[in-house]
Amino acid sequence: MKSHSICGSNKTPGQLYIVATPIGNLQDISPRAVDVLKQVDRIAAEDTRHSGHLLKQLDINTHCIALHEHNERQFAEKIVQQIKEGSNIALISDAGTPLVSDPGYFLVKLAHQEKIKVSPIPGPSALIAALSAAGVATDRFCFEGFVPSKGGPRSAFYAQRQKETRTMVFYETPHRIVASLTALCEQLGGERTLVLARELTKTFETIRNDSAQAILDWVKEDSNQQKGEIVLVVQGYAAPEGDTLSEQTEHTLKALLKELSLKQAVKLTVEITGKKKKKIYNYALQLKDQ
Ligand code: SAM
Repeated sequence: MKSHSICGSNKTPGQLYIVATPIGNLQDISPRAVDVLKQVDRIAAEDTRHSGHLLKQLDINTHCIALHEHNERQFAEKIVQQIKEGSNIALISDAGTPLVSDPGYFLVKLAHQEKIKVSPIPGPSALIAALSAAGVATDRFCFEGFVPSKGGPRSAFYAQRQKETRTMVFYETPHRIVASLTALCEQLGGERTLVLARELTKTFETIRNDSAQAILDWVKEDSNQQKGEIVLVVQGYAAPEGDTLSEQTEHTLKALLKELSLKQAVKLTVEITGKKKKKIYNYALQLKDQ
């Protein structure tokens, strides 16, 4: 896969590989990821020192260049140029899958604009690892990245998701976990099912599925639970009985919302179905939020 270009004169374009690396346990790297990282001309890494340790342990000697959130826009152009001139380049982040709450978006977007082949080398991601072991519905879910760090925006963030019916996944930092869980309980209710997934694939891996209030109490009591890397998985909102619409009403409302304003769609749905306006209006708001 190395380009063997002489002074960049090889004009057959190379390709960009997006390579997932372990989120804790080194053995989670795939043989294919190791092959690609050994064979490319350069590895673009979020933090070259951090990745240097991983690459050394894997006996990978490929040259590393830095691509982090502060220089990404500028360096993406250089990297794309090198690929156009024949280089094969792999992108890795500090841990897990690049672009999942990590840099790489501008590079991948630019690569597509420039018709460069982009190949994923899939592997670990804290999001999917947490979800797979959480024990909450996974047929529909939404990933919401990091919870805001400041109190006001954090409460608003959770409040906006009160009626989200899909399972929600959040990334959180250990020093904010108590404040975050407190806001979550206030806004989504302490009885909501929550999973705290901490230190996944590492020595102190902990996964607890319980009510949000029970998890908050436990984390407050046991300071060990306030350490390490954390994913929160929250069960979606389940409308109380009597709050749901019949399939037919829901179908009508959804069809009308595609063509009309929320107000007009609600008005017509009420006329067509004869159902209560408040219920239909609330449901239309939920659909809009999703
Ligand atoms: N790109 C990474 C991925 O695919 O998961 C995520 C990078 S993001 C900057 C780092 C966050 O991911 C951490 O703050 C934590 O919320 C979550 N995370 C990463 N590794 C984890 C682990 N081993 N256990 C639990 N959460 C983890």
